[in-house]
Amino acid sequence: MREKKQSLDFTSKWCYEPAPENSDHIQLKKKYELFIDGKFVKPTKGKYFDTINPATEQKLAEIAEADESDVNKAVKAARNSYENVWSKMPAAERGKYIFRIARMIQERAREFAVIETLDGGKPIRESRDIDIPLAANYFFYYAGWADKLAYAFPNRNPKPLGVAGQIIPWNFPLLMAAWKIAPALATGNTVILKPAETTSLTALKLAEIIADSGLPPGVVNIITGGGKTGAAIVNHKDINKIAFTGSTDVGKLIQHSLANTNKKLTLELGGKAANIIFDDAPLDQAVEGIVNGIFFNQGHVCCAGSRLFIQENVANIVIQKLKDRMETLIVGDPMDKNTDIGAINSKQQLETIQKYISIGKKEGADFYQSSCALPKKGYFCKPTLFLNTSQSHRIVQEEIFGPVLTIQTFRTVEEVIEKANNIPYGLSAGVWTDKGSRIFNMTSKLRAGVVWANTYNKFDPTSPFGGYKESGFGREGGLHGLQPYLSL
Ligand code: NAP
Ligand code: MG
Repeated sequence: MREKKQSLDFTSKWCYEPAPENSDHIQLKKKYELFIDGKFVKPTKGKYFDTINPATEQKLAEIAEADESDVNKAVKAARNSYENVWSKMPAAERGKYIFRIARMIQERAREFAVIETLDGGKPIRESRDIDIPLAANYFFYYAGWADKLAYAFPNRNPKPLGVAGQIIPWNFPLLMAAWKIAPALATGNTVILKPAETTSLTALKLAEIIADSGLPPGVVNIITGGGKTGAAIVNHKDINKIAFTGSTDVGKLIQHSLANTNKKLTLELGGKAANIIFDDAPLDQAVEGIVNGIFFNQGHVCCAGSRLFIQENVANIVIQKLKDRMETLIVGDPMDKNTDIGAINSKQQLETIQKYISIGKKEGADFYQSSCALPKKGYFCKPTLFLNTSQSHRIVQEEIFGPVLTIQTFRTVEEVIEKANNIPYGLSAGVWTDKGSRIFNMTSKLRAGVVWANTYNKFDPTSPFGGYKESGFGREGGLHGLQPYLSL
């Protein structure tokens, strides 16, 4: 590590030598097929699409595009294994397979972290320290529940639903797959999972692990493709439950399609979280929490703390500290272990973020970006603030899903609760204060599924996660996460 200035002052820039993670140990195939009935099979129509590295714009591999007939095959396999194998297997045996998958993810953690970063653009530090270990932890956690469902739901006679169709987004590809597959298997269901088009690789690597684990064929099927493939899963007649994580617009479409059917549904949708800083909060810690809340994973986080509320008497100092901290953030090569902010997941998402930045400027909010340079190739965005925003601004009301933070001030608790709740979403929120009673008061009044106090973006498999209002319904994680996969 080389240091330009000898000061610990936050405003001084540190200069690090590049510390790239090695990708020599990764083997990617040229083409990835569909994982149906325990085997990798070609798509019926023989169509493939490219997956690229958003940091370099280079093609990584070709991915099979499943159509309706492939979805049919996957559902048949899942139904068959549900009826004949999985639902008949003793629960403790089912648990052993899930434990095995968890251990195999741990064994191959380094490979998964590198592929997650190459395919999705998130910093290697995040995929290595957050995504992959957490994904393994969700499998471990739910493996433990498999033979204890009668204790989880006493006197309720829990039974699996059958075949679950699961559709996930691109921001936490392997982790979202774990959130979906682990509870479904623990409760005795079989699965068809579709990852997002831009980030299919780690789900397909998970398919390799599943094949190696000896899990009976058809219990987990992983099929790739775009929105059409997702819609074919949603509309398939022989699926009992749909679990969807993604945008509110697609969530509404799905809810519409499932009206008048018997399928159960859980939706984990968008968010626009309020991160609220009171004047008695430990401010340096709060600034770290703000940075973690919105710049972490390029703001590609449904629960990102994208609306900052600062108590008026400390607004200037918090904003100055935040700007100083933003100057030290390293934006660039996601494979570099020093990088704080990696690549935006796709060109399309970068364009969405840029569109919102110009909307914010037109709406008259004060605009601020850190002075860092961006790589010439790839999709990158500087950490961005909009100051002096108001509730009516679109950048305050709509989900941007990028490293863009809006800032408002407040004077009283009542005012900030009113403003924080005055939004179509209700996924998460953050409260920073030294006062325990205020935390309890705020958590009971904020309409958000998760409220973090003096921390942000912390996840644990034992803790339920999910939203209110247009952020969806149903919970994933914890004991609550078993319920949507059971008839009770
Ligand atoms: P998206 O466009 O809704 O896509 C999500 C998934 O649905 C993808 O696999 C997508 O396939 C598929 N899909 C698209 N159209 C479909 C249709 N008509 N029927 C069935 N499936 C369809 O969302 P995204 O842009 O990928 O993800 C970002 C959004 O997810 C954000 O709004 C974010 O807040 C939300 N999110 C929420 C949570 C949560 O837990 N609440 C967690 C993470 C993300 P393709 O990608 O191939 O188009
Ligand atoms: Mg990609």
